[in-house]
Amino acid sequence: METIYALSSAGGRAGVAVIRVSGPEAIFVLEAMSGRPAPDARRAVLCRLFDPATRVELDQALMLLFEGPRSFTGEDVVEFHVHGGRAVVAGVLGVLSGFDGVRAAAPGEFTRRAFENGKLDLTAVEGLADLIDAETEGQRRQALRQMEGALGRLYDGWRGRLLKMLAYAEASIDFADEDLPEDLLARLGPELAGLANEIQSHLDDGHRGERLRDGVEVAIVGPPNVGKSSLLNRLAGREAAIVSDEAGTTRDVLEVRLDLAGVPVTLADTAGIREAEGLVEKEGIRRGLARAESADLRLVMVAPDSQGGLEGNFDLARGGDLKILNKADRASGGLAGEGVLAISALTGEGVEKLVAALTEKVEALFGASENPVITRARHREGLVDCVEALEAARMGLMSGLDPALVAEDLRMAMRALGRITGRVDVEDLLDVVFRDFCIGK
Ligand code: GDP
Repeated sequence: METIYALSSAGGRAGVAVIRVSGPEAIFVLEAMSGRPAPDARRAVLCRLFDPATRVELDQALMLLFEGPRSFTGEDVVEFHVHGGRAVVAGVLGVLSGFDGVRAAAPGEFTRRAFENGKLDLTAVEGLADLIDAETEGQRRQALRQMEGALGRLYDGWRGRLLKMLAYAEASIDFADEDLPEDLLARLGPELAGLANEIQSHLDDGHRGERLRDGVEVAIVGPPNVGKSSLLNRLAGREAAIVSDEAGTTRDVLEVRLDLAGVPVTLADTAGIREAEGLVEKEGIRRGLARAESADLRLVMVAPDSQGGLEGNFDLARGGDLKILNKADRASGGLAGEGVLAISALTGEGVEKLVAALTEKVEALFGASENPVITRARHREGLVDCVEALEAARMGLMSGLDPALVAEDLRMAMRALGRITGRVDVEDLLDVVFRDFCIGK
């Protein structure tokens, strides 16, 4: 196993930079560069760092040793906290590259080693990546919980239950002639159904974890000139969209990113929905409609027309969408119907209320949840496969199928869960269970 090193803090000038070294040579490197014996584990020590070849001093630094397996990667890990100047960092990295058996780490390699050494399961690895990418409070909370193993524990728990069921099924094959409790297989059916139900309700989460991670899409829809870009501009607090009196000038989708109660929201202004004349405009409308269709929520906007009626309608609104009457400064009241928010993008009247209503919706639908939630399509695929295999096992059981085939379905269900957490060693685990399984000797 090679020893790897990398600058673990961000590049560029900074007060402090952290350089991490992991692997069998880590302690040797530390002693060679500091010219002193390794300090006690997890104890910061101030030292001078040298280039051992030239004895040139590189920096005054703090060094820390985490002896494996009690480290992030599970290997011996050394951290140098050096001054964050470019030349200092380049100097230390340059010296590190000169040691035998030591090389620069590939992207993600420290975490990969942590996974391979059983320090983190795959969901925790993903949680760590999400934590580093988190931009809002909700994303941070969700990622931290996942990194700490909430999702992994949930799936491992299910896997444990499946393992027991598999042991029952296996037992009825291996010990068919012996005195097996009669109801062993009969007990399996309800347990299978119970687990499948739990996994299914975990799947039916309205994609809230994925939405919180990726961001929620909100589209502003309505005919041209009702004031969609004006609202967007007001919300963004800057001139993000071009506002014009001429109908059909908003040809493309313009968007702003908002942080609403910790949920990242992309608000998109779609091209006005109406009969298009020009080709460009037609394409703009097509894209706008597609975007409105696929958005998580829509702000459907109408405005008073010059005849005292309404420009636009709420036909595109679905349950959960917000209905908005803009240009309320012009309307003589009474135009806003039931459940319609009256605002003026021009004066700002009602806009705060709109933001509050949108925030409430977004938070209720996509905010950080108390229970661990699915955060990636990868998880969803594994869970769907698992439920399908469970269902096949249950059907097989009911139709009196050979227990060996039922066991195969259960194995597939376990493998599907194992793929999510990165644990695929079903057979090893079976050995463990069978050792304690009190049938036969
Ligand atoms: P869009 O095509 O739906 O994006 O509409 P725009 O935002 O381009 O607005 C069309 C016209 O309506 C512009 O002249 C705006 O200044 C005007 N407008 C937008 N919102 C309001 C409002 O609340 N009150 C009034 N009186 N005019 C508005």
